[in-house]
Amino acid sequence: MFDVIICGAGPAGSSLAYFLAKNNINVLLLDKFRFPRYKPCAGAFPVEMETFFDFPLKKVIEKTYSSMLFRKGEREFRLQLGFPLAYLVNRKHFDNLLIEKAIEKGCIFKDGTEVLKIKGERIITNSEEFRGTIIVGAGGGSSIVRRDGKRFKKIGMWLKTISADIPYQGFKDIIFDFSYTKSGYAWIFPKRDELSVGLGAPPCHLRDAGITFEKLLVDYAIPLPETIHRFTYPTFSSRELLTWKNTLLIGDAASLSDPSTGGGIYNAIRSAYLASKAIQLHLRKGIPLSYYQRLVNKYLFPKLTLSECLRRTFYSFPFTIQALRIGKPLLLKMTRPNPLKI
Ligand SMILES: Cc1cc2nc3c(=O)[nH]c(=O)nc-3n(C[C@H](O)[C@H](O)[C@H](O)COP(=O)(O)OP(=O)(O)OC[C@H]3O[C@@H](n4cnc5c(N)ncnc54)[C@H](O)[C@@H]3O)c2cc1C
Repeated sequence: MFDVIICGAGPAGSSLAYFLAKNNINVLLLDKFRFPRYKPCAGAFPVEMETFFDFPLKKVIEKTYSSMLFRKGEREFRLQLGFPLAYLVNRKHFDNLLIEKAIEKGCIFKDGTEVLKIKGERIITNSEEFRGTIIVGAGGGSSIVRRDGKRFKKIGMWLKTISADIPYQGFKDIIFDFSYTKSGYAWIFPKRDELSVGLGAPPCHLRDAGITFEKLLVDYAIPLPETIHRFTYPTFSSRELLTWKNTLLIGDAASLSDPSTGGGIYNAIRSAYLASKAIQLHLRKGIPLSYYQRLVNKYLFPKLTLSECLRRTFYSFPFTIQALRIGKPLLLKMTRPNPLKI
């Protein structure tokens, strides 16, 4: 019997495993893939995220950026700062580092183990059955914990993406280009040896994703990739219930990706941090697990709600680049989240 079973070992699940294991909680982490595994993701997150960990992320950071270039048609705007703003990682290495650190602290990790069913404390997988006092859904948009928990809502908003990692140098800047889709953007993120290039938008605005993606590559004279990834994941749309009975949801399983930027890594880890606090209080002092909901209501939902309002306003405004220029102070505030200590 485990204290906690975490279903999914992306940044949400593996960081929760780390936070709990280092506090002597008996934790099992499961993932359906064998690790290290490829994950379609541009891999950008605010530098402040490092403050959640007491080990360096340096080993997996490929680039640090202190500027960003925004484009729409002929217009462009550069956000230039005198301090580091974002780190870029390759998710294969980043996710694996978090798992290694969790294992070092005593977490048991079983990869290649797909969770098929949850029945109270019982977790039925493709290989074995486990029992856990608390069950955490960290399986991203397809989270089985979310689907099996009858009280959890259906995901309200999805983001469709098409992307590729292309071994190509020749770009210095992080580029966001709003010319290719409504209510979304194209990105070009230069990493150590390759470019992450992609498009992301609500599915209704990215119907001809393949054709639009090819146009983006041709316009920027980027070689056509061998492999293209199509992936849809949830973003925040409204406040919702994230704990029910002995289960709770974190990261994309809880739809906590930022609706205006699409970034989900930071909130995945932030929600894991909040969940770790609530779980420890529950196991040690009997405080209801729903305390996690109160923490999310206080520390995550207000900013996500604001971000959703901004997304709606921003994309209905025809002068995208001018809006960014005027909104620079707000943009700075949004890209530099306050490190969380509770
Ligand atoms: C193309 C693209 C680009 C992106 N770029 C960025 C970016 O630059 N910055 C950013 O912050 N965010 C970005 N995101 C979003 C980011 O990838 C997600 O928000 C983040 O991965 C969420 O982490 P998570 O741990 O909640 O879920 P995930 O990373 O999706 O991890 C879930 C894990 O659960 C496992 N799993 C699922 N179901 C089961 C099951 N039944 N049994 C066992 N295991 C299971 C999966 O194998 C997976 O490993 C991007 C997303 C995409 C698609």
